Amino acid sequence: MNILVINCGSSSLKYQLINSDSEEVLAKGLCERIGIEGSQITYQPAGGKKEITVSPMPTHTQAIKLVLDALTDEKKGVIKSLAEVGAVGHRVVHGGEKFTASTRITDEAIAAIEECNELAPLHNPANLIGIRACQELMPETPMVAVFDTAFHQTMPEEAFLYGLPYEYYEKYKVRRYGFHGTSHSFVSKRAAEVAGKAYEDLKIIVCHLGNGASVSAVKNGKSIDTSMGLTPLEGLIMGTRSGDMDPAIMEYIAKKENLDIAGVMNVLNKKSGVLGLSGVSSDFRDIEEAADAGNERAIKALKAYNYRVAKYIGAYVAAMNGVDVIAFTAGLGENGNTTRKGICEYLTYLGIAINEEANNVRGKDIVISTPDSKVQVMVIPTNEELAIARETLALV
Ligand code: ADP
Repeated sequence: MNILVINCGSSSLKYQLINSDSEEVLAKGLCERIGIEGSQITYQPAGGKKEITVSPMPTHTQAIKLVLDALTDEKKGVIKSLAEVGAVGHRVVHGGEKFTASTRITDEAIAAIEECNELAPLHNPANLIGIRACQELMPETPMVAVFDTAFHQTMPEEAFLYGLPYEYYEKYKVRRYGFHGTSHSFVSKRAAEVAGKAYEDLKIIVCHLGNGASVSAVKNGKSIDTSMGLTPLEGLIMGTRSGDMDPAIMEYIAKKENLDIAGVMNVLNKKSGVLGLSGVSSDFRDIEEAADAGNERAIKALKAYNYRVAKYIGAYVAAMNGVDVIAFTAGLGENGNTTRKGICEYLTYLGIAINEEANNVRGKDIVISTPDSKVQVMVIPTNEELAIARETLALV
């Protein structure tokens, strides 16, 4: 079956058409600047060349129509008609406490996703727009919602409760949810396969280090803790997000800089992290280049970043009373060999030793620890689209 995977944001939409039998990507691409001037669609069929077409997209429905037209185009298309799309899998960011797993999209499911909008006001409404647009254009095609939060719904209360008045949890659902669940699930399962051991018998720590970044503790096949919280702002120092900090800083900075809450939130989400620390960029390639050239702030940013990741790993070793596998994934986790090395230097107390040669390999599943290392350290490339396609197949 061919499965169309849709990741719909407020002004952009990523898509992949995946054959679920071979798990091959038949075509993929991106619509950008939806609803604003200068919209364009990128389309790349497997083995073919990438094509960028400027085309007006006043609405998401129009964007998805262009995607479907490209996929079924006589010359560049990869399928003859929409009848060859067996199902659509939608990424949905927040499933609150309602969704502990992926779900078939029905009117009830849409209403329940809408109820989670308040928890992810930037993401969920956009995800829903993508769902409705697909329903309009493919009313008979079964659809599935795959949530970023669902994998972490197995967290125990002691891990998800904040030290706040309990009524805030009861009344407003203020608790830790965690994100990147599709990736943490995919990578931890794959890590168990690479280790050649049963998923249910392992203690795995996954470090998803991309632009947004989070660490998770997966014990016996279940997420028992993760570093992001009510929103993706908590936890690690990220590209532009602060991660953990003393909440009193918010009032202090608001007064000093004459900012309101929205202004402070903007600083914490968009101007902090390694961008704010280094003053160079949110991209690790730029920061590493600057650090190599002797830029002091870039060096400090990289050190603070690694230290925070190592601290979370230490916390999760405690939470699980041990660890068998540590897996690195996402843009930086997969490519940043010096970052991995820097983080693992803190972990010699666990009996971890890194094989330098393996640590320099890119683009495939690989064990980067030495054979006598007490904990296996791996690089496992994540594939959220494939994970969504698998979940979708399982439900249709
Ligand atoms: P997201 O999906 O959250 O946007 P990615 O998983 O694509 O993020 O990760 C993007 C980040 O990965 C970039 O900001 C960059 O810092 C880092 N990255 C990508 N390639 C490399 C590389 N070769 N070396 C170091 N960092 C890299």
